[in-house]
Amino acid sequence: MELDKAILKSITEVIKKPYELGEIPLHEPFFESTNALKYVSECINSGFVSSIGKWGSLFEDKICDFTGAKNAILVTNGTVGLRLGLHLAGVKIDNEVLIPPISFVASANAVSHLGACPHFIDINEENLGMCPIALEKRLNEIAEIKNGVVINKITKKVIKAIMPVHIFGNPAEIIEIKKVSKKWNLPIVEDAAEALGSWKKDGDSFVHCGLFGEIGLISFNGNKIITCGGGGVLITNNQKLANEARHLSTTAKKKHKYMFDHDQIGWNDRMPSLNAALGLSQIEELENRISLKKKLYKKYQDAFSGIENVRLITSKKDSISNNWLISLEIIADDYEAEETSRKLLNKANDLGIHLRPLWKPLNKLSMYKNCQKGNLKKAEVVSKRIISLPSSPQLML
Ligand SMILES: *Cc1c(COP(=O)(O)O)cnc(C)c1O
Repeated sequence: MELDKAILKSITEVIKKPYELGEIPLHEPFFESTNALKYVSECINSGFVSSIGKWGSLFEDKICDFTGAKNAILVTNGTVGLRLGLHLAGVKIDNEVLIPPISFVASANAVSHLGACPHFIDINEENLGMCPIALEKRLNEIAEIKNGVVINKITKKVIKAIMPVHIFGNPAEIIEIKKVSKKWNLPIVEDAAEALGSWKKDGDSFVHCGLFGEIGLISFNGNKIITCGGGGVLITNNQKLANEARHLSTTAKKKHKYMFDHDQIGWNDRMPSLNAALGLSQIEELENRISLKKKLYKKYQDAFSGIENVRLITSKKDSISNNWLISLEIIADDYEAEETSRKLLNKANDLGIHLRPLWKPLNKLSMYKNCQKGNLKKAEVVSKRIISLPSSPQLML
């Protein structure tokens, strides 16, 4: 059998029952038999639908309990949270931020929203995250430290931060990346938008993604593992950064009974209570969702076990993935992989099974094509070989 047909056959085996009922989206939100309506209507009835009220802090407490973070600061969406996190890491106009070219466009946009420039570092094919070796190599090639500041010798611009991304919920090589960041004294802002429920071993214990750097961001967009409609949260163990994040996300207003006094140019980034109420009802379901996704992953793994030249993206033994988007790699030469992937995507989508390719590498988008970059060979190769599979946890209900 041709490879694309064999893959599609295996996918339909896994999703057979839900497919009988209709189209299969890539990743769908789920609210049935949750407290969603109860909490949201309670929130509406209280009148406190905007940025004050109890729902935000209740949701933040649950996020801290689950991730082990000392602080959680809710924001209106993930993009905004990354921008705020980068700002807190000291990123300013004309600085460069080292990011992987394989990510959702928001990672690069958040850098640009501060007037800074993405500088692309290659990934490793195993977990699709930033490659620590490529990172170190690029810094050694182009960077020097002058008066304690990292300067790109080519552009003369300041390199201010590193932003690794945990792609599809698979933890990146964050321990190794952190070692490089320490050598260069560069802060890390973690894009853990997709990684709620993903962990990496650090010494004897597992640490939640987003807590390895100065600050990390998790998104609650509609397609993520849990959703608030739209929203995000910054997590950090650094109390000072947490205080600043809270202050800047709420117009930098000084606490006072009735006075309007603001001591910085702040943002209006705080998640409204309505969204937080929905988020609280969702995080109550998180453990259950993670185990359903684990089950789905195993089913896909079994279904593909008979097909050579296909591999599921897996996390290493020292990592736990939330399996947000379960993805496969077609192992073939470039031409064949591209052809197989094209045929598979067309056929599946025509049948109402929403498979998706990897994002176009960010350095190929018109607005980022002139950005600084290292050798991006792996990103280039991998971008034609990866297919994301329908991954909603409710497929296993
Ligand atoms: C979803 C996502 C974001 C942005 O989050 P929004 O809440 O949609 O703004 C950023 N980075 C990655 C990797 C994402 O998947």
